[in-house]
Amino acid sequence: MRFILSLDEGTTSARAALYDDKGRRTAMESASFASKYPKPGWVEQDPEEIWRAQLDATRRTLESAKTSAASIAAIGITNQRETTIVWDRKTGQAVSPAIVWQCRRTADFCASLSASSAASVITRKTGLVIDAYFSASKIRWILENVPDAKQKAHDGELLFGTVDTWLIWKLTNGAAHVTDYSNASRTMLMDIGLGEWDDELLRIFGVPQAMLPRIFPSSAVAGVAVAEHLGAEIPIAGIAGDQQAALFGQACFRPGLSKNTYGTGCFALLNTGSRQPVSRHKLLSTRAASTGKDAQFAVEGSIFIGGAAVQWLRDKLGILKNAAESEQIAGSVENTGGVYLVPAFVGLGSPHWDSQARGMLSGITQGTGRAEIVRATLEGIAYQVRELIEAMEADSGEPLKELRVDGGASANNFLLQFQADILGKRIVRPVDVETTALGAAYLAGLATGFFKSLDEIEQFWQAERVFEPAMSAVKRDDLWSGWKRAVARCRYEGS
Ligand code: ADP
Repeated sequence: MRFILSLDEGTTSARAALYDDKGRRTAMESASFASKYPKPGWVEQDPEEIWRAQLDATRRTLESAKTSAASIAAIGITNQRETTIVWDRKTGQAVSPAIVWQCRRTADFCASLSASSAASVITRKTGLVIDAYFSASKIRWILENVPDAKQKAHDGELLFGTVDTWLIWKLTNGAAHVTDYSNASRTMLMDIGLGEWDDELLRIFGVPQAMLPRIFPSSAVAGVAVAEHLGAEIPIAGIAGDQQAALFGQACFRPGLSKNTYGTGCFALLNTGSRQPVSRHKLLSTRAASTGKDAQFAVEGSIFIGGAAVQWLRDKLGILKNAAESEQIAGSVENTGGVYLVPAFVGLGSPHWDSQARGMLSGITQGTGRAEIVRATLEGIAYQVRELIEAMEADSGEPLKELRVDGGASANNFLLQFQADILGKRIVRPVDVETTALGAAYLAGLATGFFKSLDEIEQFWQAERVFEPAMSAVKRDDLWSGWKRAVARCRYEGS
């Protein structure tokens, strides 16, 4: 048994990677799948397409490594979180498209919930801010809007899962209907302290208990993939939501350590250990992935649109050939000339929680061209991250010393230098920025004895490049106040 196989199912693509016993990635392949935007603010995916993409990426990974499933000790799975799939227990057919985490279709319902007496119960039990982001209102939407779904769900004929659950159900041919604490903590149906589905929350959202998966620790054997799909039976021994997997993959095992991931969205997580955080600055409390039986927590700031703004420049505006090109184009001008892009394409997440806000490009003059817009887009990502870090520092009362970074857009040196400048903090990029896949591999490897201990894994983490802040405080403050004005303008009127 020479490898751990990590399945990393993201928002835009499914990846599969192999890791050896030194935590080194020896192969990785990916397959992308489509998101559909049927109405403004709506985002959907096809559950079957997600599964096929994951299977395709996995088979090609084994091929490219010239190995077979027989050499795999265990599988770790990590996934886009909150995305909601409901399927028929007997036929295995999804009853509707997957409702993606970014989708705003339940924003009105969530607004009415926020104004109701249930609001304080929900936030206290889940550690979350009431928002369309989380799974519960999405499940409710499916049960309310798909013909017969509500009755079937009550009769025990339908199953719910986030994408981890869906993939494991597929891999085990329906034998395992499971999830882990980190994914379950994003559904808005779990009591985060107890780690159990909560009857009161289930009643509020109208979700029958029979639909829900069994919750496992993130590092434990939760099922066995059947030989039909990959060529041999393989235990599934690690599960974690992508951001918690990334925190683990960055070796942020101890309280006080933090990371930010620049993927489709941006997610900053700070490990708070066994202490369940209660944020006073609109951050989220969440379960961290851990190896022990005891609950581990993190405080999280979530931004819906990060690298996705760069994708928008490429796919919708057509001003980039590829995402990587944004680095050189942004660096070709000294500044944006006062242009700001607030990418509130699906509203604003932490710390604003404004579902109705929409994106805005401001400060345009006749001198504004492609380079300024590209630069404003990358800067917009970094400004949003500063908002998260400021909220975290205000919550903890302690300044963050440095920030570990990862995710697809962390390859962008311009972005990370600007991030260091606008935060006034050191940014550290590790050798392996695919920390999501790595974290899932660690969790699976620790559960099966492939990796020995957290101490061993800590030794694997290595910095590749450090970005030191170089901007003057005056300039930083000036740019920052411009950003704050831009955000205020794009907030929903009256909020
Ligand atoms: P996810 O796991 O959420 O699907 P990834 O971590 O793979 O996302 O990151 C992909 C995102 O990062 C895309 O939105 C893409 O536009 C952006 N991206 C990738 N490379 C770069 C780059 N060099 N500069 C800026 N953005 C990038």
